[in-house]
Amino acid sequence: MKTYRKELWFEIPTRRAFVNITGQVQQCIDDSGIREGLALVNAMHITASVFINDDEPGLHHDYDAWLEKLAPHEPVSQYRHNVGEDNADAHMKRQVMGREVVVAVTGGRLDFGTWEQIFYGEFDGRRRKRVLVKIIGE
Ligand code: ZN
Repeated sequence: MKTYRKELWFEIPTRRAFVNITGQVQQCIDDSGIREGLALVNAMHITASVFINDDEPGLHHDYDAWLEKLAPHEPVSQYRHNVGEDNADAHMKRQVMGREVVVAVTGGRLDFGTWEQIFYGEFDGRRRKRVLVKIIGE
């Protein structure tokens, strides 16, 4: 069995954003030489997510509006976590959108369903953060 590990780095200039990282994950599979196996992709920060859904801007706008209703950023004083911090909402948004995805690798490609793409979800940006890609297989 082969294994492959890589950290993808991001520095999002805004507090919140969704970034399609499918191409970068596929590049990791290409570099790994693994044809059959599993790819794990996870955020290495507790205020960011990795998830799979459609690459459709209206949907991403809807996610952001929905998450802001669930856990509004302002007023920051509404959260107990925000004693010396202002990112309680980002922890909650990450919890809803998830930590990681696992995707089958078949024939050297991400074995997706229709319209599936992998996204990095940033909820407390403007600093360097990492995503781990781990691939196992042969
Ligand atoms: Zn925090």
